[in-house]
This record gives sequence, C-alpha cells and structure tokens, in this order.
Amino acid sequence: MKNFDSIIGQEHIKEHIRATLTSGKVSQAYLITGESMQGKEYIARIFANALVCENPGDGYDPCCKCKSCIQVQSGNHPDVITVTHEKPGTVSIDDVRKQIISDVQIKPYQSRWKIYIMNEAEKMTPQAQNALLKTLEEPPEYVVIMLLTTSASAMLPTVISRCVQLDMRPVDDRIVRQFLMKEVQIPDYQADICVAFARGNIGKARSLAVSEDFDSIREEAVRVLKYIKKMDMSDMIKTLKTLEEYKLNINDLLDIMMIWYRDVLLYKATMDTGAIVFADEADSIKTAASESSYEGIENILQTIEKTKARLKANVNFELSMELLLLTIKENQK
Ligand SMILES: [Zn+2]
Repeated sequence: MKNFDSIIGQEHIKEHIRATLTSGKVSQAYLITGESMQGKEYIARIFANALVCENPGDGYDPCCKCKSCIQVQSGNHPDVITVTHEKPGTVSIDDVRKQIISDVQIKPYQSRWKIYIMNEAEKMTPQAQNALLKTLEEPPEYVVIMLLTTSASAMLPTVISRCVQLDMRPVDDRIVRQFLMKEVQIPDYQADICVAFARGNIGKARSLAVSEDFDSIREEAVRVLKYIKKMDMSDMIKTLKTLEEYKLNINDLLDIMMIWYRDVLLYKATMDTGAIVFADEADSIKTAASESSYEGIENILQTIEKTKARLKANVNFELSMELLLLTIKENQK
C-alpha cells in the first residue's frame, strides 16, 4: 500500500503534508528537492493521491481502496498528470506550454484538485521556466504543480519563490538497514555495505541491494584488497586486466575500496569490529590494520580520491589503476 507509512524517513515532509491536508491550506506549487533515486516522485504521488482520495483515513492518509486511489496508484487518474519531455536532456517551452499552460484552464474531471507532477524540473530551459512562471503567479484555484528537482540552484529564483520547498534529507542508516533486511531480504553483512554506500538515499540502497552488478563489483574489490599483499607482478597485471571489465563502474569499485580502508582505519583506532561495514570480512580488516600504519592508510585513502579525479580527467585507465594498486601494496606490509 502506498500511503504515508510506506515512505521511509522524511518525517518532516510527511508532517508538512499532513498539516497541509488537515488545515486545507494547500499551496498551489511545491518544489521537492532531493538526490536522484531518493524518492521524490514517490512522495509527490502519495501527496497527490491524498489530495484526490475519496475516503481518506487518519491524518489524511490515502485509503488505497477508492476508485481515485486505484487510479492514481496505477498511473491512470485523469486529474493527476505527469509532465513528460520529448528530449531527454531538456524540458522545453513547448513541453510546458502543451502539457501545463494550455491545460490548466480545463477543470478537473472528477476531483477537487488537478495536480501536475514534473520530474527533472531542473531540465526546464529558462524560457520554459519563464513561461511556467505566469501560471505559477495566477493559477486556477484547483491547480497544484509539483516540481521535482535534484538541483534547486538550476531553477530561476522567481520560480522557486512561488513554491513551497520541501527538501528531502538522508535517512538514518539504521532505518535504511532495517528496510533492506525486511523488504529486500538480504543478510546483514550485505545490507551494511549498501547502507554505507547509499548515504541515506533509500532508493539507491534498494537498487544496490538487488543489483547483481553491484554484488560482483563488491566481490572483485574485496578480492583485490584481500590478496594484493601476496600478488606478484604477473598477478598484478592479471588484476589490472580484470579491473578493465569494471571500467564503467569504476567509481563504485573505488568507493567500495574507500569503505574498506575506512574500516581498516576505524578498527586500528578502536580495536573493535562492532562498527565496521565489512563485518563478514572482519579477519581481513584486522590483518590489514596490523599491516598498515595510520599514515599508510591515509595515503591509500588519498590515492583512491586522486585516482577518481584522474579517471574523471580521462587519464589512462590502466596507468591510474596501476598507480593505485602499487600505492596500496607499498603501504601494507
Ligand atoms: Zn482513496
């Protein structure tokens, strides 16, 4: 059931929406900001659903049973409109004109409200935003426009000032972990790495947890870090070849290495495996901690950062990775 309880975290937004529905003071424009995959559209849809539900429950939660709820949840409600754009990179003035500006004058078909949800609102051209501004300034009283964006800074201040802004926040790691173990049913040691990786982004955590790619990237990174000390030159060359296969996901792989060495550092400082992410590799983390100095670990962490920057600047892949592996090997004795 897609009701308020199904939104993980974001208590401040849920509270705001509930208060709005209770008081009946619905704003005509909202700007929901948050990272990609964080669940902006999920929240916007539940908000829209609550507005059109024919039989809302406590706290104005959508009932998930009435005709309107069923229509919203299957994406077929005539008064809940998803604004699309033809070109992937931009929302043009034509998109905005056709789907919003010339449509807002038509009264809702069956509800009190007519709701427009626009994903990737930051992709609106300045012309599109200016055109939309007129509607935002004098919307028909039944219109609610929800703009969803990863970057409010790409929006015109005049547009932002017309909207009630709801900023999504990172969800507490414990809650993300619980969610993954319950909903995706992965073991705790696997949940931990997804949690560390997702940094409070629930959608990202979920997609990592079910991704076979991510699993194989994690395994490869762990394999390299566990055996690098024993590798001779020919093993290193083989490893570099294998890493080539992960070229497209190299940032994920490097992030996993980063989490590994943060664990090593944490264990070295606390001698406690309770808080480490790679709990299932505790023995290897302990060994790495005993084999490296604080300075060495810092050096490795910095080199991982540098490697990311180098690859971003298109420095040769093999060369960058070789430098990284050598730095790791040198600093772990
Ligand atoms: Zn309902």
